[in-house]
Amino acid sequence: MSTNPREEIQRKIEEGDLRWLLLKTGELHGHFCPFVALGVKASVIAIRRLKAFTEGIDEDILAIVETNNCFADGVQMTTGCTFGNNALIFRDVGKTAMTLALRGGKGIRVSLRPGYPEAMTADNPEARELFERFILRREKGTPEEMQRLKDVWEALSFAQLEIPDEEQFAVSEVTVSLPDRAPIHPSLVCAECGEAFMETRGRIRDGKFLCLPCSGDAYFVLEGGGIRAVS
Ligand SMILES: [Zn+2]
Ligand SMILES: [Zn+2]
Repeated sequence: MSTNPREEIQRKIEEGDLRWLLLKTGELHGHFCPFVALGVKASVIAIRRLKAFTEGIDEDILAIVETNNCFADGVQMTTGCTFGNNALIFRDVGKTAMTLALRGGKGIRVSLRPGYPEAMTADNPEARELFERFILRREKGTPEEMQRLKDVWEALSFAQLEIPDEEQFAVSEVTVSLPDRAPIHPSLVCAECGEAFMETRGRIRDGKFLCLPCSGDAYFVLEGGGIRAVS
Protein backbone atom coordinates (compact mmCIF):
# COMPACT_ATOMS: atom_id res chain seq x y z
CA MET A 1 0.00 0.00 0.00
CA SER A 2 1.27 3.42 -0.84
CA THR A 3 -0.50 6.47 0.47
CA ASN A 4 0.11 10.16 0.16
CA PRO A 5 -1.13 11.69 3.42
CA ARG A 6 -0.87 15.16 1.88
CA GLU A 7 -3.04 14.39 -1.14
CA GLU A 8 -6.00 16.43 0.13
CA ILE A 9 -3.77 19.38 1.05
CA GLN A 10 -2.21 19.33 -2.42
CA ARG A 11 -5.63 19.29 -4.03
CA LYS A 12 -6.75 22.27 -1.94
CA ILE A 13 -3.61 24.17 -2.95
CA GLU A 14 -4.34 23.47 -6.63
CA GLU A 15 -7.92 24.61 -6.12
CA GLY A 16 -6.72 27.71 -4.25
CA ASP A 17 -8.92 26.87 -1.24
CA LEU A 18 -7.14 29.15 1.23
CA ARG A 19 -9.90 28.96 3.81
CA TRP A 20 -9.64 25.16 4.01
CA LEU A 21 -5.86 25.39 4.24
CA LEU A 22 -6.03 27.93 7.06
CA LEU A 23 -8.54 25.78 9.00
CA LYS A 24 -6.21 22.80 8.52
CA THR A 25 -3.22 24.81 9.74
CA GLY A 26 -5.16 25.71 12.88
CA GLU A 27 -4.88 22.02 13.85
CA LEU A 28 -1.11 22.44 14.01
CA HIS A 29 -0.87 26.02 15.21
CA GLY A 30 -3.56 25.99 17.89
CA HIS A 31 -5.10 29.36 17.08
CA PHE A 32 -5.95 31.60 14.15
CA CYS A 33 -3.91 34.77 13.78
CA PRO A 34 -2.89 37.05 10.90
CA PHE A 35 0.65 35.72 10.56
CA VAL A 36 -0.29 32.06 10.34
CA ALA A 37 -2.68 33.04 7.52
CA LEU A 38 0.11 34.98 5.81
CA GLY A 39 2.34 31.90 6.07
CA VAL A 40 -0.33 29.82 4.32
CA LYS A 41 -0.77 32.43 1.59
CA ALA A 42 2.96 32.96 0.99
CA SER A 43 3.41 29.19 0.67
CA VAL A 44 0.57 28.82 -1.82
CA ILE A 45 2.07 31.62 -3.93
CA ALA A 46 5.49 29.93 -3.88
CA ILE A 47 4.14 26.43 -4.61
CA ARG A 48 2.07 27.65 -7.55
CA ARG A 49 4.93 29.70 -8.99
CA LEU A 50 7.40 26.84 -8.58
CA LYS A 51 4.82 24.23 -9.63
CA ALA A 52 6.24 21.83 -7.09
CA PHE A 53 4.80 19.64 -4.36
CA THR A 54 6.88 17.82 -1.83
CA GLU A 55 6.28 14.17 -1.07
CA GLY A 56 7.78 14.81 2.34
CA ILE A 57 10.22 11.94 2.17
CA ASP A 58 13.21 12.90 0.11
CA GLU A 59 14.04 16.51 0.94
CA ASP A 60 13.39 17.03 -2.76
CA ILE A 61 11.84 20.42 -2.15
CA LEU A 62 12.95 22.64 0.69
CA ALA A 63 11.40 25.58 2.44
CA ILE A 64 13.51 28.26 4.04
CA VAL A 65 11.82 30.34 6.72
CA GLU A 66 13.40 33.49 8.07
CA THR A 67 11.35 33.82 11.24
CA ASN A 68 10.15 31.44 13.95
CA ASN A 69 6.83 33.16 14.59
CA CYS A 70 3.30 32.09 13.64
CA PHE A 71 4.14 32.58 9.93
CA ALA A 72 6.44 29.52 10.09
CA ASP A 73 3.57 27.17 11.00
CA GLY A 74 1.61 28.32 7.95
CA VAL A 75 4.69 27.47 5.90
CA GLN A 76 5.20 24.04 7.48
CA MET A 77 1.59 22.92 7.10
CA THR A 78 1.15 24.21 3.57
CA THR A 79 4.50 23.30 2.03
CA GLY A 80 4.90 20.03 3.94
CA CYS A 81 8.50 21.00 4.63
CA THR A 82 8.85 20.55 8.37
CA PHE A 83 11.25 20.61 11.27
CA GLY A 84 10.98 16.81 11.48
CA ASN A 85 11.35 15.79 7.82
CA ASN A 86 14.51 17.86 7.33
CA ALA A 87 13.02 19.81 4.46
CA LEU A 88 12.75 22.98 6.53
CA ILE A 89 15.67 25.35 6.86
CA PHE A 90 15.52 28.10 9.46
CA ARG A 91 17.51 31.23 8.74
CA ASP A 92 17.44 33.13 12.02
CA VAL A 93 17.25 36.62 10.55
CA GLY A 94 13.87 37.78 11.84
CA LYS A 95 12.15 38.49 8.51
CA THR A 96 8.61 37.47 7.66
CA ALA A 97 9.74 35.70 4.52
CA MET A 98 9.91 32.22 3.06
CA THR A 99 11.55 30.60 0.07
CA LEU A 100 10.49 27.39 -1.60
CA ALA A 101 13.38 25.83 -3.50
CA LEU A 102 14.07 22.82 -5.66
CA ARG A 103 17.14 20.68 -4.99
CA GLY A 104 18.99 22.39 -7.81
CA GLY A 105 18.69 25.74 -6.03
CA LYS A 106 15.95 27.37 -8.10
CA GLY A 107 13.50 29.01 -5.76
CA ILE A 108 10.73 31.50 -5.19
CA ARG A 109 11.06 33.90 -2.26
CA VAL A 110 7.96 35.52 -0.83
CA SER A 111 8.44 38.29 1.72
CA LEU A 112 5.97 40.44 3.59
CA ARG A 113 6.00 44.07 2.48
CA PRO A 114 7.40 46.46 5.08
CA GLY A 115 4.64 48.42 6.78
CA TYR A 116 2.04 45.76 6.02
CA PRO A 117 1.49 44.65 9.66
CA GLU A 118 0.79 48.26 10.67
CA ALA A 119 -1.48 48.80 7.65
CA MET A 120 -3.33 45.60 8.57
CA THR A 121 -4.76 47.12 11.75
CA ALA A 122 -4.73 50.79 10.67
CA ASP A 123 -8.52 50.94 10.32
CA ASN A 124 -9.11 48.56 13.22
CA PRO A 125 -8.25 50.41 16.45
CA GLU A 126 -9.75 47.68 18.62
CA ALA A 127 -7.47 45.02 17.11
CA ARG A 128 -4.48 47.32 17.57
CA GLU A 129 -5.30 48.01 21.21
CA LEU A 130 -5.89 44.33 22.02
CA PHE A 131 -2.61 43.45 20.30
CA GLU A 132 -0.62 46.06 22.19
CA ARG A 133 -2.09 45.18 25.56
CA PHE A 134 -2.27 41.41 25.50
CA ILE A 135 0.37 40.31 23.00
CA LEU A 136 3.02 43.03 23.04
CA ARG A 137 2.86 43.93 26.74
CA ARG A 138 1.57 40.50 27.84
CA GLU A 139 -1.02 42.04 30.13
CA LYS A 140 -3.34 39.58 31.81
CA GLY A 141 -6.86 40.40 30.64
CA THR A 142 -10.23 39.30 31.95
CA PRO A 143 -11.63 36.10 30.40
CA GLU A 144 -13.97 38.33 28.35
CA GLU A 145 -11.07 40.44 27.07
CA MET A 146 -9.03 37.36 26.17
CA GLN A 147 -12.01 35.89 24.33
CA ARG A 148 -12.46 39.18 22.48
CA LEU A 149 -8.77 39.13 21.49
CA LYS A 150 -9.22 35.60 20.14
CA ASP A 151 -12.32 36.59 18.16
CA VAL A 152 -10.80 39.76 16.70
CA TRP A 153 -7.54 37.97 15.87
CA GLU A 154 -9.41 35.11 14.22
CA ALA A 155 -11.45 37.51 12.09
CA LEU A 156 -8.25 39.30 11.11
CA SER A 157 -6.66 35.96 10.26
CA PHE A 158 -9.39 34.96 7.80
CA ALA A 159 -9.54 38.53 6.45
CA GLN A 160 -5.95 38.10 5.22
CA LEU A 161 -7.20 35.58 2.68
CA GLU A 162 -9.32 38.21 0.92
CA ILE A 163 -6.59 40.82 0.49
CA PRO A 164 -4.79 40.86 -2.90
CA ASP A 165 -1.39 39.12 -2.75
CA GLU A 166 0.42 42.16 -4.19
CA GLU A 167 -0.61 44.32 -1.23
CA GLN A 168 0.95 41.85 1.17
CA PHE A 169 3.94 40.29 -0.53
CA ALA A 170 6.93 40.89 -2.73
CA VAL A 171 7.72 37.81 -4.83
CA SER A 172 11.02 37.11 -6.55
CA GLU A 173 12.86 34.31 -8.30
CA VAL A 174 16.03 33.39 -6.44
CA THR A 175 18.84 30.88 -6.60
CA VAL A 176 19.79 29.48 -3.22
CA SER A 177 22.61 27.21 -2.16
CA LEU A 178 21.20 24.28 -0.26
CA PRO A 179 22.82 21.85 2.14
CA ASP A 180 23.19 18.18 1.23
CA ARG A 181 20.47 15.81 2.31
CA ALA A 182 20.55 15.30 6.07
CA PRO A 183 23.14 12.63 6.89
CA ILE A 184 22.23 9.62 8.99
CA HIS A 185 24.70 8.82 11.75
CA PRO A 186 25.04 5.83 14.06
CA SER A 187 24.15 6.17 17.73
CA LEU A 188 26.47 5.84 20.73
CA VAL A 189 25.51 5.41 24.37
CA CYS A 190 26.61 8.07 26.84
CA ALA A 191 28.85 6.76 29.62
CA GLU A 192 27.35 9.27 32.04
CA CYS A 193 23.55 9.33 31.55
CA GLY A 194 23.16 6.05 29.65
CA GLU A 195 21.11 7.60 26.85
CA ALA A 196 21.76 7.00 23.18
CA PHE A 197 22.86 9.99 21.11
CA MET A 198 23.85 10.72 17.52
CA GLU A 199 27.58 10.12 17.08
CA THR A 200 28.27 13.62 15.79
CA ARG A 201 26.73 15.16 18.92
CA GLY A 202 29.14 13.61 21.40
CA ARG A 203 32.55 14.12 22.95
CA ILE A 204 35.26 11.75 24.09
CA ARG A 205 36.45 12.39 27.65
CA ASP A 206 39.07 10.08 29.23
CA GLY A 207 38.35 7.54 26.54
CA LYS A 208 34.59 7.55 27.27
CA PHE A 209 31.81 8.72 24.98
CA LEU A 210 29.67 11.47 26.47
CA CYS A 211 26.56 13.14 25.09
CA LEU A 212 26.82 16.91 24.65
CA PRO A 213 24.86 17.90 27.79
CA CYS A 214 26.96 15.55 29.94
CA SER A 215 30.20 16.77 28.31
CA GLY A 216 29.52 20.37 29.38
CA ASP A 217 30.32 21.62 25.89
CA ALA A 218 28.08 24.19 24.24
CA TYR A 219 25.26 23.16 21.96
CA PHE A 220 22.54 25.06 20.10
CA VAL A 221 18.90 25.41 21.06
CA LEU A 222 16.07 26.85 19.02
CA GLU A 223 13.68 28.69 21.31
CA GLY A 224 11.15 31.50 21.09
CA GLY A 225 13.89 34.12 20.89
CA GLY A 226 15.76 32.34 18.07
CA ILE A 227 18.85 30.12 18.02
CA ARG A 228 21.41 30.39 20.79
CA ALA A 229 24.26 28.37 22.21
CA VAL A 230 23.96 26.96 25.73
CA SER A 231 26.06 24.60 27.80
ZN1 LIG B 1 -0.33 32.54 15.77
ZN1 LIG C 1 24.81 11.92 28.75
